[in-house]
Amino acid sequence: MLSIGKILGLAVILFVVWQVFKFLETQKKIRESQSSGRGSDEQGTASVDMVECPDCGKWYQAANQSAHHCDEDAK
Ligand SMILES: [Zn+2]
Repeated sequence: MLSIGKILGLAVILFVVWQVFKFLETQKKIRESQSSGRGSDEQGTASVDMVECPDCGKWYQAANQSAHHCDEDAK
């Protein structure tokens, strides 16, 4: 037997699920509009951010900056 309390509880659960779904949809739309607005080029450079060394002119990944050693010592 369904009591009014159970029906109200079910309605609250459905309402919460609907709100969460709506929130996720909004977040997804914001993310899509941000990525499409910046263009597809940045996605390629964001993962591998290359930096030119001002001393030796060699290109290296910005994340590996500490691993870069200039060849000027060898000259
Ligand atoms: Zn260098």
